[in-house]
Amino acid sequence: MEFRLSDYLKKLPPYLFVQIDQAKRQAIQEGRDLIDLGIGDPDQPTPEHIIKALSRAANDPANHHYALDAGMPKLRLEIARWYKKIFQVNLDDKNEILPLIGSKEGIAHLPFAFLNQGDVSLVPDPGYPVYANATLLAGGEPYFMPLRAENAFLPDLKEIPEAVLKKTKMMFLNYPNNPSAAVADKQFFQRVIDFALKYQIIVCSDLAYSQVCFDGYRAPSILEIDGAKEVAVEFHSLSKTYNMTGWRVGWVCGNQQVIAGLAKIKSNMDSGIFQAIQIAGIAALQTESEFTKQMCLMYAQRRDVLVAGLKNLGWNVEKPKASFYVWTKISEEINSLEFASIILKKADIVVTPGVGFGKYGEGYLRFALTKPEDKLKEAVKRLSLL
Ligand SMILES: *Cc1c(COP(=O)(O)O)cnc(C)c1O
Repeated sequence: MEFRLSDYLKKLPPYLFVQIDQAKRQAIQEGRDLIDLGIGDPDQPTPEHIIKALSRAANDPANHHYALDAGMPKLRLEIARWYKKIFQVNLDDKNEILPLIGSKEGIAHLPFAFLNQGDVSLVPDPGYPVYANATLLAGGEPYFMPLRAENAFLPDLKEIPEAVLKKTKMMFLNYPNNPSAAVADKQFFQRVIDFALKYQIIVCSDLAYSQVCFDGYRAPSILEIDGAKEVAVEFHSLSKTYNMTGWRVGWVCGNQQVIAGLAKIKSNMDSGIFQAIQIAGIAALQTESEFTKQMCLMYAQRRDVLVAGLKNLGWNVEKPKASFYVWTKISEEINSLEFASIILKKADIVVTPGVGFGKYGEGYLRFALTKPEDKLKEAVKRLSLL
C-alpha cells in the first residue's frame, strides 16, 4: 500500500534543517555540552500567578466543557483593556477580537478564509515560514518581498509588480521581526495602509514580539494608524510576552470582516480554547508591567554580552532594538547552512542558518537570546577558538 501526500503538501519547500537536526541529536546522544541558541522559545518559566490561575480553573468542572468558538467574553474584554493600555487603541470586544490557539494557528488558517486558487499573498523573505506555507496549503501563491539590510529589512512596496498586485489578496508583516530583529515605525505602517487601501489587500501584522523591546524603544501597533481597521488585522500571542509558548493562546484583532472569515474557518476546524487556559490568559494579561520591564532588561543584558563578544571577534553584527534575536552577517565565502553545521560540530553551539527563513536570509545566522549570560559568554569563547 502506498499513500500519496496531497499536491498541496508536496508544494511545501524542502525542510533544510535535516542535517543540523541530525547533528544536534547526535551531539545530545554523545552527551556533549550543547548551547542551543537555535529555537525562539524563552528559557524562563511562566509567572507563578498564571500557573495558579490555570490550576484553579482546571479544578473547576464548569471549565471542562466545549468552549465558545469566539472565546470567553471576559478574555475578549481583557484583551481590549490590555490593547488600550499598551497601544491606546480601542477595540470592540465583540467583533474586533478573536482568541486563537496560539497566533500560529490563526496565521495558518487565515489564508483558507480569503484565498482562491492562484491568489497571491505577499510574504516577507526572510520570514516566519508559516506565512508562505499556509498560503500554499490554501492553494494560494506566495510572492516573496525581499527584506534587505540596505532597506533596514523593510519591504520595498514599489518593487512589487502591478501584475502581482492584481492577484494579491493579503500581505504579511512582522515587526519587531523574526529573524532579522528589525523594527518598523509608524511612517512605514502608514505607507502600508495607504498601499493596502489602494490595492484592496488584507494586511496581517504579526506582533508576537511587541513586548520584547530595549533601551526605551516601543513597538507600535499597525492599528494605531488612522483607517487601519479598514484593511488590517494584527496577530498577538502570550507566548513570548509571558513565557507561555507551550500554553497555546493568542488572538487576532482589527478588521471585523477578516475576523469573521477566520472565525468561520476555525468553527469547522477546532472547538475553541480550553477554558482554563483562557482564564489563565486573563491572569497573564493582568500581569504587572514590572514583569515585562525585568524580562526586557534580562534580554537586553544578554544581547549586550553576545553582541559585544561577537564584535570583539570581528563579526558584523548590530544591536537589535527589539525581539530576542541577534541577526549576524557572515562571510560571503560560506553559506549559512554550512557555517551553522561547522559551529555545531566544532563549538557545540546551535544557531539557525538564515537561509531557513528564505533565500534573502542567506548570508546570515540567527542567534536566539534564550540562554543565560554565562552560556552566551561561553558560546563567544568557543567561537573564538573556531
Ligand atoms: C513565535 C512566533 C509566533 C507564534 O506564536 P504562538 O502564539 O506561540 O503560535 C508567531 N510569529 C512569529 C514571528 C513568531 O516568532
